Amino acid sequence: MEKLIIDKKSGNDIIVEVRDVKIGGPCKLFISGPCSVEDPDTMFKIAAELKAIGVHIIRGGAFKPRTSPYDFQGLQEQGLKILKDAAASVKLPIVTEVVDVRDIELVLRYADMIQVGARNMYNYSLLKELGRLKVPVLLKRGISATLKEWVYAAEYVVKEGNQKVVLCERGIRTFENYTRNTLDLNSVAVIKQKYRLPVLVDPSHGTGLRELVPGMSMAAVAAGADGLLIESHIYPEKSVSDARQTISMETLGEIYKKVKIYEGLNL
Ligand code: PEP
Ligand code: MN
Repeated sequence: MEKLIIDKKSGNDIIVEVRDVKIGGPCKLFISGPCSVEDPDTMFKIAAELKAIGVHIIRGGAFKPRTSPYDFQGLQEQGLKILKDAAASVKLPIVTEVVDVRDIELVLRYADMIQVGARNMYNYSLLKELGRLKVPVLLKRGISATLKEWVYAAEYVVKEGNQKVVLCERGIRTFENYTRNTLDLNSVAVIKQKYRLPVLVDPSHGTGLRELVPGMSMAAVAAGADGLLIESHIYPEKSVSDARQTISMETLGEIYKKVKIYEGLNL
């Protein structure tokens, strides 16, 4: 493998700033919110809870890449507006997914960070465009992507001049089907050793089961993750999408507290 800009050997570790939030520094970062943006009342309540817990960035998909074309595809621009208003009410930055390169401009009117979802990790024209735009990017690992393919995808963005890339391990498809995906924490350890970019872990998509999220969150942090992306909701069972893996605000608060204790140990 040729030398990459994101190799440890190429320079110092990169800290990505999303408004006043720093990803990759000493503070473990929390991104949370529902899978999909929902109605305004629900979103305002979720935003208030996230803020009270200490979450740094709110998430929610307005453009949803669903496995079935018959499933809810997201509220689109209306969802972006709701997310922006809810986030503004508690002054939280926003990360949300762009599925199509033609929607980048629209999404950037509302979002502070763009998520490239697992299904789009190989979308090199999307990656290059986000590289040219120099906007913070949250790059999820592809569903069946090797570590090197994922790292190369990040290099696509960085090569265009945009170093604001945060990796996110979200589990990969293996023969194991008890869980939705197999959360590969090996990748986190490798990235922390060999690459300069921050890496987050998404134990929600990584397991698909809400009861596994607290344990795998702590495992992720112990493996060296710079933070967590967790799907949460005020009424998890009523989530419009990914209900089975969505945790309550109470559980999110408990995970947050445990991670802060771990962070304070300075291991
Ligand atoms: C999501 O974050 O809601 C999502 C669709 O994730 P992924 O691309 O990892 O499946
Ligand atoms: Mn989801």
